[in-house]
Amino acid sequence: MTHKRKPKLAVWKFASCDGCQLSLLDCEDELLAVAGEIEIANFPEASRAVVGRSYDLSLVEGSITTPHDAERIHRIRRSSKVLVTIGACATTGGIQALRNFKDVKEFTSIVYAYPEYIETLHKSTPISDHVKVDFELNGCPINKMQLVEVLCAYLNGRKPNTPRHSVCMQCKARGHVCVMVAHGTPCLGPVTHAGCDAICPGYDRGCYGCFGPKESPNTRSLGRQWGKMGVSDPNLVRAFRSFNAYSDAFRKESEFHEK
Ligand code: SF4
Ligand code: SF4
Repeated sequence: MTHKRKPKLAVWKFASCDGCQLSLLDCEDELLAVAGEIEIANFPEASRAVVGRSYDLSLVEGSITTPHDAERIHRIRRSSKVLVTIGACATTGGIQALRNFKDVKEFTSIVYAYPEYIETLHKSTPISDHVKVDFELNGCPINKMQLVEVLCAYLNGRKPNTPRHSVCMQCKARGHVCVMVAHGTPCLGPVTHAGCDAICPGYDRGCYGCFGPKESPNTRSLGRQWGKMGVSDPNLVRAFRSFNAYSDAFRKESEFHEK
């Protein structure tokens, strides 16, 4: 009797908090089903076992911040048939990309007694700035059900079916009252990628954008609206400079209000 070879999965970490990798372990019931279909061949967060040196699917968490990172991601790309980035760090540079707006040498000189021992790149950048990425999954952290969809899609040779629309659409689907229209609460929902089922507006709070920019976000229009609602430029800069500060759309809008 011949056994079909299970696809090999690898999970890699760069500069990050591990939250997105934990989303995979958090899958609980679904993880058992996934584990039945794939071979977890390299996942240091879960096991020290390493099977082979090439992988059918690599999930990459974290951003590139050191010369060593910049070299290692090329080796991972060469050993992976499909490479998917997971989370704000890997897709937009994450919180650590806030350094890109300042001089990192100044920070190291203040924080470390011997800054000459610190090997760091001037910028912290997403994985796609360094190698070809087959699919990007947004979120800080990612949504575990979207992750399961991505895994199922690649196991079945199809494209993942994750939404491209905004948090607003999820608000409408859940019947939430719009916090901007009804209460004048500033909300990044209109420009933010769906993925959380609009949790914050459900509790009468504005969205602060942890799933990053949706497809074609009109950040200029939203910034103008926030301005009319009395939000100051420094507060607009802070709103766009969080988990996804170095995504093109959020970076440009924050820089616009910094002038
Ligand atoms: S995207 Fe957020 S949750 Fe994921 S690793 Fe980065 S900081 Fe952690
Ligand atoms: S901040 Fe926005 S994207 Fe994040 S959980 Fe709240 S509503 Fe969702």
